[in-house]
Amino acid sequence: MASIFSRIIAGEIPSYKVAEDDRFYAFLDINPLAKGHTLVVPKKEVDYLYDLDDETLAGMILFAKKIAARIRRETGCKKVATVVLGLEVPHAHIHLIPMNDENDVDFHKEKLSLTPEEFNEIAEKLSR
Ligand code: AMP
Repeated sequence: MASIFSRIIAGEIPSYKVAEDDRFYAFLDINPLAKGHTLVVPKKEVDYLYDLDDETLAGMILFAKKIAARIRRETGCKKVATVVLGLEVPHAHIHLIPMNDENDVDFHKEKLSLTPEEFNEIAEKLSR
């Protein structure tokens, strides 16, 4: 069965899309640690990041770099944390999280609850 991220990429499940090219898709995490928390995924469905072929892995980092620059521009954060962790969704993904303090990247802390309007506004800003 296709992963939830493959279904998002296929448009079967809605997402707050930030960017897309022929190989990668970026969208807002629905349970964000901060405004601008974005997931970058390869369209190719591979569970473990380091099982991606070298060219796809390298391309994914370069794609993430572009999105990270937009997150920094729009949020004014000091840096964008780049995190690969979690076992929840078996489809490789990179979390990009605005960071001003190391504690901003604590996955155990309570997630933000944003309205659809807020998600849309952030996605729109990050898509430019
Ligand atoms: P993990 O595998 O632990 O990195 O968790 C997967 C991440 O995907 C979590 O941060 C979830 O909030 C996020 N997530 C799961 N389903 C969706 C969805 N439908 N739209 C956006 N983000 C999602």
